[in-house]
Amino acid sequence: MENASKNLERKWYQKLHWQVFIAMAVGVLVGYSPAGGFFAQYFGWLGDLFMRLLKMIIVPLVIVSIVAGVASAGGGKVVGRMFGKTLSYYVVSSLFAALVGLLMFNLINPGKGYPITDTGTQPPDLATPESPIDLLLNIVPTNFFASASAGDMLGIIFFSIVFGIALTTLPQKPRTKITDLVDILFKAMMSLTNGIIRLLPIGVFGLIVTLVGKTGLESFGNLFKYVLALGSGLSIHFLITIPLLLYFWGRVSPWKHLMNLREPLLVAFSTSSSAATLPVTLNTVQKKVGVSNRVTSFTLPMGATVNMDGTAIMECVGALFIAQALGAEIGFMTQVAVVITALLASIGAAAVPSAGLVVIFIILNVIGIGDNPEALLIVGGMLSIDRPLDMARTAVNVYSDSCAAVVVGKWEGETGINEKIHP
Ligand code: ASP
Repeated sequence: MENASKNLERKWYQKLHWQVFIAMAVGVLVGYSPAGGFFAQYFGWLGDLFMRLLKMIIVPLVIVSIVAGVASAGGGKVVGRMFGKTLSYYVVSSLFAALVGLLMFNLINPGKGYPITDTGTQPPDLATPESPIDLLLNIVPTNFFASASAGDMLGIIFFSIVFGIALTTLPQKPRTKITDLVDILFKAMMSLTNGIIRLLPIGVFGLIVTLVGKTGLESFGNLFKYVLALGSGLSIHFLITIPLLLYFWGRVSPWKHLMNLREPLLVAFSTSSSAATLPVTLNTVQKKVGVSNRVTSFTLPMGATVNMDGTAIMECVGALFIAQALGAEIGFMTQVAVVITALLASIGAAAVPSAGLVVIFIILNVIGIGDNPEALLIVGGMLSIDRPLDMARTAVNVYSDSCAAVVVGKWEGETGINEKIHP
């Protein structure tokens, strides 16, 4: 959280996104030079190291992020009722988000013709569940520790959600003992994640040198199509799906809500962190939108951690883009598996910059390409252009959280929400 606001005060060259941009430009130059192959061999390990660091934090980060987010609901009957309502909104809006991502992927097919497919590399066979029931069964782990050590993230996410819910049923004293501890662990993991993300320019340099050394500049054409698919998915969800949910569920004017929310949206856009934006979101949704403190203090902190529609779109488009770029056959069941996993991965993503790209490995693992070296290179390309996309998806994440507060407020019988546009 602090890191994101500090980022605003830094000189341009100290800002992470500029450093990543420069690293990418230098990586392209070095990789494209006549000695590109040699440099790729020499510097490629930097990218591998960075990827290992990202993978290292996934399991603990996802567990504490979900448990802290879900358990932040507190306890008691009223809270239980609000919890059900809030969770329904979060699941439905994130599911719609992932479906919008799927639609844009199928319309644009961003990975088709990716240069890796021309190099004679064998396309991988994706691990696909046989049926939706199979997928459902795979989500429930038989042994939590075995799932954690095997990196079976779906099982971990499922267990963390139900464990977080179980915590909310405990009496206040023992509950706060555990939730305080989880909060501390969560803060520590966020700080570790921020530290690793600071190394992004080094990782991007290593990955881009290897990518360009191997496939030249052609892969950037496909990356552009990925940006197009993701950008249009984010726009459709922001401008059509969420306003429709707001209108039909909340019975408020989507236009007034959008106008009232300008400030948090701008902060989300500039910080790329839902967590850093949370104080502004809370203030605006209470004072300008007019939702009570009782509802906002419940829905917004939880939403910042577990409700990430923009991230769900990115996970869905991104994972399918990688599979398609590798030339893999993407059947119907793979798409179903990716949508469900994208939804779960977005719940597990922490509310900090670039978290979406950390959890993309969850989906890649589920479809069986998490360790594919070519897939890792493509993730490197995506990392290098992620900042503007992260800004946009964070704004979508924050927007959806604010709409959840409105809808739950309305369902709780509150009046006077979004009555006028505040300056
Ligand atoms: N930066 C996003 C957020 O904080 C998470 C992501 O990277 O998708 O909401």
